Amino acid sequence: MALKYNDINEFSQIIGELRASFTKRRLTTPLEYRRKQLEQLYHLIEENKEELCEALYNDLHKSKIESLIAEIGTLREECLEAHNNLYEWAAPESVKTNMIYKMNKCHIRKDPVGTVLIIGAWNYPVTLLLTPLVGAIAAGCTAILKPSELAANTAAVIAKLFPKYLDQNAYRIINGGATETMALLKYRFDHIFYTGSGVVGKIIMSEAAKHLTPVTLELGGKNPVILADDADIPISAKRLVWGKSFNSGQTCIAPDYIICTRDTQVALVKELPKAIKDSYGSDPQKSPDYGRIINQRHFDRLSNLLSQTNGKVVIGGNSDRDDLYFEPTIVSDVPKDDSLMQEEIFGPVLPIVVVENIDESIKYINERDTPLALYPFSRNDKTVKYILDNTRSGGVVINDTMLHYSVSSLPFGGTGASGIGAYHGRHTFDIFTHKRSVMSSPLALEKLLTIRYAPYSESNFKS
Ligand code: NAD
Repeated sequence: MALKYNDINEFSQIIGELRASFTKRRLTTPLEYRRKQLEQLYHLIEENKEELCEALYNDLHKSKIESLIAEIGTLREECLEAHNNLYEWAAPESVKTNMIYKMNKCHIRKDPVGTVLIIGAWNYPVTLLLTPLVGAIAAGCTAILKPSELAANTAAVIAKLFPKYLDQNAYRIINGGATETMALLKYRFDHIFYTGSGVVGKIIMSEAAKHLTPVTLELGGKNPVILADDADIPISAKRLVWGKSFNSGQTCIAPDYIICTRDTQVALVKELPKAIKDSYGSDPQKSPDYGRIINQRHFDRLSNLLSQTNGKVVIGGNSDRDDLYFEPTIVSDVPKDDSLMQEEIFGPVLPIVVVENIDESIKYINERDTPLALYPFSRNDKTVKYILDNTRSGGVVINDTMLHYSVSSLPFGGTGASGIGAYHGRHTFDIFTHKRSVMSSPLALEKLLTIRYAPYSESNFKS
C-alpha cells in the first residue's frame, strides 16, 4: 500500500484543532471518554491484526508469530491494563503534611500535560507508535502521531484505520519523513515522545528546547552480553540466537555483542550452529520465521561493517542484497576497536570480544556509552550482583535477552546515550501526566495564620 505524506500546509490547522479540543473543549478530560478511546484502540488492533501482520510482513518479512507477540500482543495488553486501572491511576493522591499544615488539605492532581507529539520508529512500527499513545489517551492528552516512513506499508495501514476508530478531534496521524518531522517540530507541543536513533534524538531535543518542551527519548546503543565462565552454554546459545535473530536483529534491545573469555568463546561457538539450525533450518533464507533488513541502505551499512572487521566470521556471513537477506552471522575474536564495535549493529551479526575476566568486561562496557540493555549470563548470583553493582544500563535481563520489554510494571527506557525517560504500563501514564500540587488554606484558621504577616515578631518563630 502506497504511503501518502501529509501536506505541511495542513499542520497548523490540525495542531490548532487538537489544541482547542484540549484547552477549550476539555474533550479528553472525562475518564469515561478516555476509556472509550482505549477500547477503540484495542478494537483497531484486534479487528485488523491480519492486515497489520500482512503490512509488517511486507515491510520487514516479519513472521506472523513475531508480529502477534511483539507488536499486537504487548499493545493489546497495554490497552487493557490502562483501561482497567484508569480510575486508580487518575485518582488524586493525598499527601502527608507536617504539623504546621495539619489543618490544610493537600493533594496531587493528575492533570494531562496537553497536546503531545509521538514519533515512531520502523523496526516495530505498530507497537512503538501506539504504546505511547495508550499512555497519552489514558492521561487525557490530545496527540499527533508521526509513524516511521521507512515501514511504509504499516504506516499506510495505520493511517487508513486510525480515523475509523479514534476520535479525530483528539488524535491524528501525520505521515512524512524528515522534512515533515522538522516542520512539525516548529510547533509547540506539551511533550514529545520519540523512538529512534540517538543522532535524530539530538535533533528532536534541540528543536523541543526552543519551546522548553519536555522529551522522552527512546534510543538505542550497543547492548553487551557478559557471558561468564560458569554460564549454561547450551541454554545461553539458544537464548542469544533468539535475541539476535528476532526481527533479524533489528531490535533496540537485541544483544549487540558478547564479551567473554577465550575458553567460553570456544564453547559457545560450538553450540551456536545447532541453535541457529534448530530455529531456522540449514538455509535461514528459506525459513518463514526469519526476517529481512528494512532497506538497501541499512543492508549496505551492515555489509560495510562486516567487510571491515578484523574478527573471524565463524558462522554465516552470507547475504543477498536483492532479497535484503542477511544470514545469522557470528564473528569471533573481534578486536576491541573493531568496525563492529563502533556503532549499534542493528542486524543479525554477533561479534564476540575476548577478555581475561569479568573485570575487564566491566571496564570495556564502562568506557563506552551507557547501553539500553545489559545481559549477564552466569549461574552465580554473586557474579551477577557484582556486574550490576559496577555497570549502568537502561534495563537488565539475567540469563536471557529482551524479555523485560514485555513486563509492563518494569519501566522501559535508557539512560545516558540510550535515552531519557521510561514507559510501559503506568509509567507511560505518568509521562503524559502533570502532577499538580494543590493546597487548600482554611479560612477559619486566619487568626492562627496571622503570625506570618509583617510586622514580624521573633517570639512567634521559635527555631
Ligand atoms: P527511523 O529512521 O524510523 O527514525 C525514527 C523517526 O525519526 C522516524 O519517524 C523518522 O521519520 C524520524 N526522522 C528520521 N530522520 C529525521 C531527521 N533528520 N529529522 C527529524 N526526524 C527524523 O528509525 P531509526 O532512527 O533508524 O531507528 C533505529 C534506532 O532506533 C536504533 O538506534 C534503535 O536502537 C532505536 N530504537 C530504540 C527503541 C527504544 O525503545 N529505545 C526502539 C526501537 C528503535
